[in-house]
Amino acid sequence: MTDPSPSGAPRDEDVVAVAIDGPAGSGKSSVSKELARRLGYGYLDTGAAYRALAWHVLEHGADTSDASAVIDAAGDFDYAISLDPDDYWVTVGGVPVTEAIRDPRVSGAVSGVARVPVVRESVNAMFRALVADSDRPGVIVEGRDITTVVFPDAPVRILLTAAPEVRAARRSAEVTGQDSAEVAAALHKRDAADSKVVDFLTAAPGVTVVDSTELNFDQTVAAVLDVIRVGTGTSA
Ligand code: C5P
Repeated sequence: MTDPSPSGAPRDEDVVAVAIDGPAGSGKSSVSKELARRLGYGYLDTGAAYRALAWHVLEHGADTSDASAVIDAAGDFDYAISLDPDDYWVTVGGVPVTEAIRDPRVSGAVSGVARVPVVRESVNAMFRALVADSDRPGVIVEGRDITTVVFPDAPVRILLTAAPEVRAARRSAEVTGQDSAEVAAALHKRDAADSKVVDFLTAAPGVTVVDSTELNFDQTVAAVLDVIRVGTGTSA
C-alpha cells in the first residue's frame, strides 16, 4: 500500500478525530458526511478502504476468502480517498472506483479482506495519517473499530445503532436493482461475518450510544451533534 501522507501539507497534531462506529444501514455514512459539512470537518469513510481492496483483489481474479491472495493484492494497492464531504471520491491506481466499490459483488466479498490482521494494521496506520494530515480542524471518522482500535482516545466516540429491520429497510431503499429480501439477507450475512472480527454492536466503555431506530435523518444528526458538543466542549 502506498503512503497516503506525503502531501507536504503541514501536520497538525491537534486535528480532532470524532469516532463513529456502527453496523451497515445505521445511517453512519450519511450522518457523518452531514456532520462534517456542518462542522467544517473532513469526513473519512474507512469502509471504503476495505471495499477498494476487495475490488482490487477481485480485479486480480482472486478470492477474498484466501488470506494470502488478499495479502498479495495489498502489495500493489495504490489507494486514495477524498476527505471532502462535498467532493467524495475513491481511486485505486488512479482509477475512480467510487461507485464500483458499492456493487453487491464487492459488498459480498469485503468481509474476507477485513478479517486479515495485517491488512487491518496497514489501513489503520493510513487512517491515522490521513487524519493527522488533514487541513481541517477535525475529521469525522466512521467505521467498525474506530472507537476501539483506530482512535480509542478520541474526545468523541459514538456507536450509532438501529434495529436490524430498520437497517435492512434503509439499505434496500439505497440499493436499486436488487430485491429487498436479498438486500436484507446480504446485510445480515455481512454483519455476522464482520462481528467475528470486531464487536461493533456493543459500545466499549466511554462510548456513547445513539440509537437511530426511531429517529429520522435530521433528528439523528442533531442527536450526534449534541454528543460532539459535549465531547469537544464547543458550541459547534
Ligand atoms: O462501512 P461499510 O459498510 O462500507 O464497510 C464495508 C466493510 O468494511 C464492512 O462490512 C467491514 O467488513 C469492513 N470494515 C471494517 N472496519 C472498519 C470499516 C469497515 O472491518 N472500520
